Amino acid sequence: MKKVLIIKNKEDLKLSALKRGELHRLQLHLSHNSLGVPWKIPLIVIRGMKKGPTIGITAALHGNELNGISTIFKLINEIDPQKLSGDLILVPISNVPGYLMNQRYFSDNVDLNRIMPGKPEGNTSSIYAHYFISKIVSKFDYLLDLHTASHGRVNSLYIRADIENEETRTLAYLQHPQIIVQKYDEQGTLRGWANENGIPAITIEIGNPNAFQHELIDETLDGILNTMRYFKMIRGKVKDFMKDATICDHSYWIYSKSGGIIDVLPKLADTVTQGETIAYVYDVFGQVKEEIKANKSGIVIGKNIRPNCDAGTRVLHLGVNIFEPLSKNIPGA
Ligand SMILES: [Zn+2]
Repeated sequence: MKKVLIIKNKEDLKLSALKRGELHRLQLHLSHNSLGVPWKIPLIVIRGMKKGPTIGITAALHGNELNGISTIFKLINEIDPQKLSGDLILVPISNVPGYLMNQRYFSDNVDLNRIMPGKPEGNTSSIYAHYFISKIVSKFDYLLDLHTASHGRVNSLYIRADIENEETRTLAYLQHPQIIVQKYDEQGTLRGWANENGIPAITIEIGNPNAFQHELIDETLDGILNTMRYFKMIRGKVKDFMKDATICDHSYWIYSKSGGIIDVLPKLADTVTQGETIAYVYDVFGQVKEEIKANKSGIVIGKNIRPNCDAGTRVLHLGVNIFEPLSKNIPGA
């Protein structure tokens, strides 16, 4: 077991203070909790011997979205700091209280990914968000933010990114997604803050909450290593993964109208056509109460897997307006 460096209240993460060619384990103090002690956020910093970009990878910003943690743990086993150019700043557990409570939200039930960049003097979650940004994320040159579906739902491996912007499009293409959804940067998200502040960022949605899904984790790891090869942080040929990815310019959830027992029919990444039946809602006697149809043709990004549903339950996350972009090439690769 190697020693963990503690970075106290008033200090920031200072890369220049960490020795090159090594992996560093740190705990950084963010705001104080109700015991009056700081939330300590774990960081893994790998400093390369040579200069290069700083890629930041954040996981579990929603505290129950855990596939990104395993992705980071697998990544550190792939990297030899002596052969690395540039730096990796890895945050396996971004939302510490949410993680402890096994929930999406922060301790005050606020979604951290809606309030970025927070405020130094605001409510509990705002203060935490403020120091998370100012002490950690502001040090990144690029950000990959790792998420999963929400509770009771499953996701394919998909990317949310602004593909009209060349830098974020390149980051998206370097991954190996099944699906890319064009997303302008929503206000308050970590990705939105980063892109506005000159840190190209994408969101990678990896499968389901509360689980480790090694197939999807390994695919995500492949995409991250590909990104590092593209930026010449590690050696090797950049893989052009884009041939089989589907790109949609919009996505939305289809909701149930009635409550009951729901069975969603298509599999993840299936294509559905307009008018196709995508789910049945049964009453408690096994009779069909509602037949839910796709109102547009598209691709299944995510779906509900919890059968007991209230009226107004999210049924299926549909990616629509599938298109071929002007280019599926990665510039310079
Ligand atoms: Zn999330």
